[in-house]
Amino acid sequence: MINVTEAKKLILENCNQSRTETVALLEANGCILAETVLSPIDSPPFHQSAVDGYAFAFDNRNIKSELVIKEEIQAGHFSNLILNQTEAIRIYTGAAIPDGSDTVVMQEKVEINENKIIINDEHLLKGNNVRLQGSQIKRGESALKQGQILMPTGISFLAGIGITHVKVFSNPTVSIIATGKELIKAGEELTRGKIYESNAIGLESALQQINIKPVSVEIVDDLEEELIKAIKKQLNSDIIILTGGVSVGDYDLVPTALEKCGVKKIFHKVKQKPGKPFYFGKYNQTLIFALPGNPAAVMSCFYEYVAEAIRTFTKKNYFKKLLLPLDAEFHKKSGLTFFLKGKTGNQKVTILENQESFKLNSFAVADCLIELEEEKEEFKKDDLVKIKMIV
Ligand code: AMP
Ligand code: MG
Repeated sequence: MINVTEAKKLILENCNQSRTETVALLEANGCILAETVLSPIDSPPFHQSAVDGYAFAFDNRNIKSELVIKEEIQAGHFSNLILNQTEAIRIYTGAAIPDGSDTVVMQEKVEINENKIIINDEHLLKGNNVRLQGSQIKRGESALKQGQILMPTGISFLAGIGITHVKVFSNPTVSIIATGKELIKAGEELTRGKIYESNAIGLESALQQINIKPVSVEIVDDLEEELIKAIKKQLNSDIIILTGGVSVGDYDLVPTALEKCGVKKIFHKVKQKPGKPFYFGKYNQTLIFALPGNPAAVMSCFYEYVAEAIRTFTKKNYFKKLLLPLDAEFHKKSGLTFFLKGKTGNQKVTILENQESFKLNSFAVADCLIELEEEKEEFKKDDLVKIKMIV
């Protein structure tokens, strides 16, 4: 049996198929840029007034003299007028200042006398209230670099320099197959011996949390032929996540079914709790995660392993990792890495009750997974532990 570090390493070694695609800007929200975006224009594209006021040529200004107001320029318009030293032009925020001018005085700082203004602004300097052409970014300069996550602010920025499409790293295609004869769907009558299926929807929502919609979700009986049929249908996905049927019971048929589909086993069983029977394999480029059926094992393996594999496709860091002190002591046996449901607060982390892998009641309110290393048995209050935030 391998340990968690080896399992993570083997998974990462087998992830090498990231793709890129060019998508409309809005669709790229939250994605990682696969290439540096160069600005196609100067921004602002022209010398622009930053205020509502009057544009004029500063050097020519005689402080006492009046300036004659020539035409007005509204945002969206421009004027071909070239101002001389006795002239000003009425201008509004965002409008192009005319040739011959270099400074704008705010409308609150002038005295208007018929068609003339007198400037009452002793602090005004040359160039004030003008946003120079290209002062945010010049044509050909890098606007956002490859590897940058596109946030709403970045989308607005790129739209503002006229970008409509960007190249981003693609999501992998993911298929979910939950296995078990006992499973029925919530909403159906709970007959004796049956349980409500919760893994498929749990995985689906965990994928949704990272903006991925699975290409297929299927619930399959513990019958080898059914499993083989279901697996074969999904072998062209980038990732297949199975749940259940990977343990040692007579009806744990998933590893055999995978083998019969031509899947190469990379490992089966990891020294961890929950999720010891975790299986990982590969078929051509398709990654196969067969997770033990207990619901807490499924979710914990998703966050610890599947999400890390998905990250190699999208280049996105989904879940923050940090170190926090424990708020109470904890004892565990050595030889297994523990992934415990935790709750952070006051710069500490609490290990929640109900850690058994069939229970989700604590997981449902946990905000992190706490990783307690394999060999260590005694954890004291204030010992720093590895945390993975899951919210
Ligand atoms: P298995 O790994 O198939 O032995 O399943 C381990 C435990 O998880 C059993 O109690 C199953 O009934 C339960 N289980 C398996 N699959 C699911 C599922 N999709 N939803 C809820 N519980 C499940
Ligand atoms: Mg089962």
